[in-house]
Amino acid sequence: MNNSSALVPKYMLDFKCIGTECEDSCCIGWKVQIDKTTYTNLTNVPQKALRESFRTGIEKVDTPSRTNEQFARMKMDGTTGCCSMLDEQKLCTIQATLGERYLAPICATYPRNIFWVNNEQEISAVMSCPEAARLALLNPEKMEFTHTEAMLQKNAQSKGKVITDQPNPTFMNFFWDIRIFAIEIIQNRNYSFPHRLIIMGLFCEQLQRLINQKLESESDIKGLIENFKEMINNNAELQDYGTFPQDHEFQFITLNNIISKNLGNIGSNARFASCVQDYLDGLEEHKAATEKKDLIDFYQDGYSSYYKPFMDEHEYIFENYAVNFIYSHLFPKSESRDIFKVYIILVSHYVLLKLLLIGMSIKHKGLTTDIVLKLIQSFTKTSEHTNVYVKNIIEFLTEKQYSSMGHLSLLIKN
Ligand code: SF4
Repeated sequence: MNNSSALVPKYMLDFKCIGTECEDSCCIGWKVQIDKTTYTNLTNVPQKALRESFRTGIEKVDTPSRTNEQFARMKMDGTTGCCSMLDEQKLCTIQATLGERYLAPICATYPRNIFWVNNEQEISAVMSCPEAARLALLNPEKMEFTHTEAMLQKNAQSKGKVITDQPNPTFMNFFWDIRIFAIEIIQNRNYSFPHRLIIMGLFCEQLQRLINQKLESESDIKGLIENFKEMINNNAELQDYGTFPQDHEFQFITLNNIISKNLGNIGSNARFASCVQDYLDGLEEHKAATEKKDLIDFYQDGYSSYYKPFMDEHEYIFENYAVNFIYSHLFPKSESRDIFKVYIILVSHYVLLKLLLIGMSIKHKGLTTDIVLKLIQSFTKTSEHTNVYVKNIIEFLTEKQYSSMGHLSLLIKN
């Protein structure tokens, strides 16, 4: 493909910002960084009234660390969290009066993630946009990819570039083999979603061992993939979900501690705050339950009675979430050559979302796609703003030396 086309998941072809219909505008509740060019363009427009509104609505970064990329920021309303450029209908006045080319790169690009892989652009969407999340996650079919026009305008913000054809071959020379195989594992519907996630982890664990030993030749990497393909089809131990350890107490206490410890970090994200409140309300029902049970058993009962029946019918939601993660994080790319850590980040998202959904399902006596979507979207928005949840899980696992598949299985499996 040439560099004027982009590889995209097919849901991107249907994506269109729904503006005032959006249940959680991207212009509310986070920082909007402005680069120097955008700042200069906006604060010098010929229209006096507009110029004045930009000069008061945008503040220059006033620290020695100011860069051309992070030169200024939009002022946000202290109470509502709304960007100062929104009008009464919650529409962007820059876009309405001057057009897209005056938007800051982040505003012109969101909710798209743009990368370059060799000479081809890749675009996907972040799940903090409700409309993109709806299109990406609620499609029961396996996520597929296609080509469309690349985003080449000046203010389209690319997050980076990957060159897979290295002169001194590393595992990145087999970027596509590894990436496609990871997606194949996650989309293998012969296994339950958590089982697939564990299989992907076992693959990443062994791949990491090869990388650590600098065994990154074609035969090493492709040999490992072939070996795993064979095991997925024929290895009775791998095929038996009962092989993998579980410990509900360890799971609940570890994850609940992370949620409890970060109640003060939710910020102005009212949608995530209400999901966390639903989770807490669900667990609180334990106190009023007529049948006296341990809280851990109450949690596991919630999983079996409310979470599992819904998820058995809607496993494609987490499957699509994981495929979008693999694609949009350029898996197996890792600056530190630690691809197992990238896998742990995916697991951290899944296990925290699962924990919260179990509590929420107890409160609502079941789940709906609206509830699940609201949590995934608002959790993603909070994580993009403050990454404490994932950071806490990684710190916990590293501190206890629990970063092996044996321990991760305890968090994944119910
Ligand atoms: S979050 Fe998505 S749908 Fe909502 S206003 Fe932003 S781009 Fe549009």
